[in-house]
Amino acid sequence: MDSARPGVWLLLGILVLVPGGDMTAEAQDTYARERVRMVEHIAMLMRETRSETGRAALSDRVTAAMSTVPRHEFVPAWERPSAYADRPLPIGHGQTISQPFIVALMTELADVNPGDTVLEVGTGCGYQAAVLAQLAKTVYTIEIVEPLGREAAERLKRLGYDNVTARIGDGYQGWPEHAPFDAIVVTAAPREVPQPLIDQLKSGGRLVVPVGGQILGQTLLVLEKRPDGTINRREVLAVRFVPLVDESGKQQ
Ligand code: SAH
Repeated sequence: MDSARPGVWLLLGILVLVPGGDMTAEAQDTYARERVRMVEHIAMLMRETRSETGRAALSDRVTAAMSTVPRHEFVPAWERPSAYADRPLPIGHGQTISQPFIVALMTELADVNPGDTVLEVGTGCGYQAAVLAQLAKTVYTIEIVEPLGREAAERLKRLGYDNVTARIGDGYQGWPEHAPFDAIVVTAAPREVPQPLIDQLKSGGRLVVPVGGQILGQTLLVLEKRPDGTINRREVLAVRFVPLVDESGKQQ
């Protein structure tokens, strides 16, 4: 009897593992194709919004990052079929992952170089952090909703984004221990640009942040710290983000 068992297990293994393995490879191909289409769509939107954004196209590095990061790994399982659609998706706790075009545009505007240290405020599911991690030396990211931040940190680790450090907290205050930053990307909207984030920018650094209330709408801003410490502020595009909140849930 004993000697028959390996045969049974082998048979079960073939039945269970082989079709499963094929489906996974097929799904990976589908996601790769969808990612190519997503990047083409972003390229079209970049051309269409060039007069507002001042950029007609994504740089090769940002294109490569958007083409590489597996967005389907960052969304809830039931949203995977829509992972590469150009729209925001729910990620739980009333929060959303931004639409791919906005992630790409904000990354482009942040002008991230290979040696850079970058801060992200609003980790969410960790997708934007992963895109930044493809481009920077180190990424620090802060999330105020504890379970979201914890899950994102685990996901980023599992996917091998070793240059990302995540923590739970109020990103309005930045992360002074790791400042100054070459670039700061804020993915939730405060009413005004948080002064601590301006203070934590390196000379020559860029801060990309959506600013405004929930009713009158928000504007995506790029602030650049000039070598003399003064700030150049540019309005880029009308956008819609979840609010940057304090511990009590009020917009800051
Ligand atoms: N960048 C995210 C999308 C974020 S949605 C991604 O790629 O998935 C905005 C996130 O900002 C939400 O998860 C929200 O909980 C978080 N947030 C809101 N206020 C915050 C604050 N004061 N500090 C840190 N995170 C904040």
